[in-house]
Parts: sequence; C-alpha cells; structure tokens
Amino acid sequence: MRRLATLVALFLAWGIGSASARDLAVVASFTVLADMVEQVGGAHVEVRSLVGRNGDPHMYEPTPADAQALAHADLVFVSGLGLEGWMDRLIAASGYKGRIIVASQGVETRTMAEEEGGRTRIITDPHLWNSAANGAAFAATIATALAGADPEHATGYRANGARYAAELRALDGWARAEIAAVPEAKRKLITSHDAFGYLGAAYGIELRAPVGFSTESEPSAEQVASLIEQIRREGIKAVFVENTIDPRLVQQIARETGAKIGGLLYAEALSEPGGPAPSYTAMFRYNITAMKQGMLAN
Ligand SMILES: [Zn+2]
Repeated sequence: MRRLATLVALFLAWGIGSASARDLAVVASFTVLADMVEQVGGAHVEVRSLVGRNGDPHMYEPTPADAQALAHADLVFVSGLGLEGWMDRLIAASGYKGRIIVASQGVETRTMAEEEGGRTRIITDPHLWNSAANGAAFAATIATALAGADPEHATGYRANGARYAAELRALDGWARAEIAAVPEAKRKLITSHDAFGYLGAAYGIELRAPVGFSTESEPSAEQVASLIEQIRREGIKAVFVENTIDPRLVQQIARETGAKIGGLLYAEALSEPGGPAPSYTAMFRYNITAMKQGMLAN
C-alpha cells in the first residue's frame, strides 16, 4: 500500500512536472542579443529577435507581428543605453507588462563626444557587446534573468551561462593576442559608424568613423572633410564597410584618400546562417580577423 502511494505520488509529480514544462517565450531586440539568449536558454527557451539579420538596431520600424510577439512574451531583453530608441513605444503599444531585462546593466560604459548641428554632446556608447569581456557580462545577466523567470530550469541556465561566459572570456584573450601581433603604428582603422569603441579600447585599436554612435544621424560635409584630412595626415589605410549600412560614403572616402576597403564588418547584426557571422561568437571572431588582416595589409 505504501509502495502504491509512493508510485501514485511519483506519477502525480511527473504529471505536474511535464504539464508545466513549457518553453519560455522570450523576445530580444536584435539578433546579437537574441543569439546570446539562445546560447544560455538552450532547449527551454524560444527566442524571437525583433530586428532581423543584417538589420539596423538603431532604426527599426516594428511590425504588428512584433507587437503580437511581445504581447505573448514571458520575458523581454534589450541591450539598452539608447540603442533601441523605438522599443518603448512598441512595448507600450503591445500591452506587455512583464519584466524588461537590460542586458548591459552593470557593465562599465564609455562615453564619446558626438558632433551634431555644430554642437558637441557627450553620449554613452551603446555598442558594449563588441568587447567579448562585456559579452561575458551579458551572459551572466541573461542567465540570472532566465533562472528567475523559469526556476524549474534555473540550474541549466546557470550552467549554460557559466560555460558561455567562459567561452567569451577565452575569445577576449584570443582577440588581445591577435591584435597585439599588429605593429602599434598600424593599429588604426576606419569603420562606417562609431560601433567599435569598446573593441578598440579593449584590444588597442584606434578607430574613426564618418557617422557617429547612432546611424540615425548623418555626417555633415565638414565632418567628412575633416575625417578625410585625418586619414591622409595619419596615413590610415584600412577602411571597412558594415553589413547594416549603405557603403557609399565609406567607398567615397576610400576613393578620395587612396585607402583600401578592407572588407565588411558585422557591428550590430548577425549575418544569415550561411554567412560569416551567423552567431555572436562567429561575428566577433570574424571582425577581429578581418580588422587584423586589413591593418596588416598596408
Ligand atoms: Zn550602432
């Protein structure tokens, strides 16, 4: 009888357990962050990215399907610091009332001077993930948030988060060594917009861009002329375009300065699955390798 009671109890526990084991519906603002959440969430999390692959996270026009996904979400992740300027309105329109996790929380930020309309303002650079050490901090925040939202699988999320963060810290060390192999005088390059400030600071590359921290602003003729002047003066030869940005301005700058287009960088959007940057780790590795080759090529 006692044994039967145990069996019944076990059966009930199993029944209840399996009934509640549904996937966590998560919405992330853009593909880089969505991939991080997938890596940590594993099999128990269904992640939808609002901005698609090769899409610009600064400027995005949400669709009715996005609002619907938010309305049914258990948890929402943004990177924060003004990256997703379109997000607040979308969340309000969707009626989503759950938690919004800011993945960049607690990470040391850098500020930059931004010229706009002849005035300089100091802004916080939102592109934190382009340093892999910062990516490891994102992974820890994501693991804590998933564990809180789905306690049943908390152990798995914490283990995945720790494994992923360790992988990212190893990538950070690898990038340091890769860039250290480039002679210091050559560690300079031009990108489409100011998206690699954390990367440059972490691995020792001097970066300039014709467009500021957000793709929402357009450079003035004076700003472009002054950048061309600086490229000539400092002999910068490595110039890169980005997958989310019209390459024509950078191509024009390259023509006028005699610099070479060193290739395509993935600053804030993953490539298609078959492309060179289908995941955050692949994107990071690809960018460091392309930058190193571009700087060494001249
Ligand atoms: Zn950007």
